[in-house]
Amino acid sequence: MSQRLRVDWPSCRAHGLCHELLPDLIRLDEWGYPIMVGQVEDDRLAEARAAARACPRLALHVVDT
Ligand code: SF4
Repeated sequence: MSQRLRVDWPSCRAHGLCHELLPDLIRLDEWGYPIMVGQVEDDRLAEARAAARACPRLALHVVDT
């Protein structure tokens, strides 16, 4: 099973911290909202989960695809 990052849009406030933590997996649009790039490979799962925990709004989630 593979995983990807998902954003709870109503909760996201475009802090951009997720992009700072995972710049190759999350880009920002012109307003600072995250754009997910591809899936989360197994060797990046711990890093992705740590980024999700670090989101100030708890708006970032690692979900199964
Ligand atoms: S850190 Fe959280 S609130 Fe900030 S842009 Fe990323 S998902 Fe949104």
